[in-house]
Amino acid sequence: MTEKVKKLFSSSEVFPSLTWIIEVVNPIVNKELETCRSAGLFGKSELASIEIFGSITELAKLLEYYTSLPEMFKVAKVDLIEGPELCCKVSLATGGQCNRCKRITDDIAIHPYWPGEKYNLCSRCVDVLLNINWPPFIYRNETDVYICTDEREWHEIKSGRKELPAYDNLSSEK
Ligand SMILES: [Zn+2]
Repeated sequence: MTEKVKKLFSSSEVFPSLTWIIEVVNPIVNKELETCRSAGLFGKSELASIEIFGSITELAKLLEYYTSLPEMFKVAKVDLIEGPELCCKVSLATGGQCNRCKRITDDIAIHPYWPGEKYNLCSRCVDVLLNINWPPFIYRNETDVYICTDEREWHEIKSGRKELPAYDNLSSEK
């Protein structure tokens, strides 16, 4: 979290739960991440998974921002667990790494436009790509899709400056 963002929210009573997360939870998480990083568990916190323990009231405040917590703490995954005191446990995240956003996630999408390990995209990135009309599929019949991964080629074919590759020549592309 940048200093600018911290300042904006901690000076405000508009988002009390968020202020509490920034002022109270974030230092606890950061301290634990730093300890594990120093011990060599990981290099970047994005490779870590954290469990935050706390009372029901505390967990309720965290739940308000649940989907944003991984990004706020710059970790792969956040689990919330009821416990006697507010604390954080860090471990190495498991799962696949998305090739686009580099997050470690259990949510690697299986999507016909971007099949296989070469793409390895998370569901969130697949949604983004679909929304910006990126789907680089150009040629398809009932069973096959020609997948264009080169942005320049994609624009050329889209604008008609380049012909679609003949279907017979596509086997090496897949
Ligand atoms: Zn992703």
